[in-house]
Amino acid sequence: MGPKVIQFDTERREATAPALRRVTLIVPVYNEEASIALFLARLSPVIEEASPLARIDILFVNDGSRDRTERLILAEAERRPGISLLNLSRNFGKEAALTAGLHHAAGDAVIPLDVDLQDPPEVILLMIRRWLDGAKIVNARRNRRDGDSWLKSRSAGAFYRLFNAMAERPIPRDVGDFRLMDREVVQAIRQLGERSRCNKALFSWVGFETEEVLYDRPARAAGETQWSYWKLAKLALDAIFSSTTVPLRIWTYVGMLMALVSLVYSLALFVRTLVFGIDVPGYASTVILILVFGGMNMFALGIIGEYVGRIYTEVRQRPLYVVRSHHIAESAEA
Ligand code: UDP
Ligand code: MG
Repeated sequence: MGPKVIQFDTERREATAPALRRVTLIVPVYNEEASIALFLARLSPVIEEASPLARIDILFVNDGSRDRTERLILAEAERRPGISLLNLSRNFGKEAALTAGLHHAAGDAVIPLDVDLQDPPEVILLMIRRWLDGAKIVNARRNRRDGDSWLKSRSAGAFYRLFNAMAERPIPRDVGDFRLMDREVVQAIRQLGERSRCNKALFSWVGFETEEVLYDRPARAAGETQWSYWKLAKLALDAIFSSTTVPLRIWTYVGMLMALVSLVYSLALFVRTLVFGIDVPGYASTVILILVFGGMNMFALGIIGEYVGRIYTEVRQRPLYVVRSHHIAESAEA
């Protein structure tokens, strides 16, 4: 027998150029009737300019708006291609809306952005170029927080310092949800099932090679912010308590320190009593000790409560959001 001949199939290359890759913009909207037309008008030239590089489509996630937001978006979707709409059954909050968007986006990459033009659409072009050059995540870092009040930028600064001191993966400062993420990254994020959710923390948790573009963040174009300080505080607590257990563990050290201090103090008291005999009643020190330990206990219990509450919401296994309807643009079908 002669030698066996192994025949390879010669790879047949397509004659046509490869299809353009698709980028889905995820846009959560809550009572934004004043912003939608402005947003699309500003976006159109960007989509046009990006057209040799990538196809951009838009997925609006209507987070239970009670105004004309839904009707306006549907009307726009009739008029132009590439607009899809995911209606949630009520207001679930921006984090849940964004998560819904991440679950339903069909593009090869996604970019979450706000409808109020605080995330300037022009930056998208820079992000897409970096992505086509190989980056998996392209963060948009704000140069300044012009649009925000003194209190908001201060409290944001304090939050980042606190979070980054404790969390396993820091959240880059001055980077919001506005960033490009490759499909691989989106797949990774979809596997994270937690319910008390701060997407920014999860985005940095998944890793992948990350690049950055810079931009100036302007003030809101129209309408009003839907974030109250309460909602922001809740988001900050969600970020911290779902990303780190440092606040729980800290109490071991505080407890040890306290035990040591009390031991030394008791010894001193004991010796003093032996040497000088029984003293005038120690009213002040007793009250101080009670107050200090009471306060510490309360604080520690509060922290444990934060975790227990979150464990409870996680074990209930409720979905993060409920979809009422999904209008998919023909051009956006997977
Ligand atoms: N948003 C949402 N659900 C909410 C609150 C806000 O989907 O419960 C959307 C809102 O329509 C906007 C984006 O989240 O597109 C950012 O909201 P906003 O501009 O009020 O927040 P800020 O810029 O002050 O952080
Ligand atoms: Mg805004």
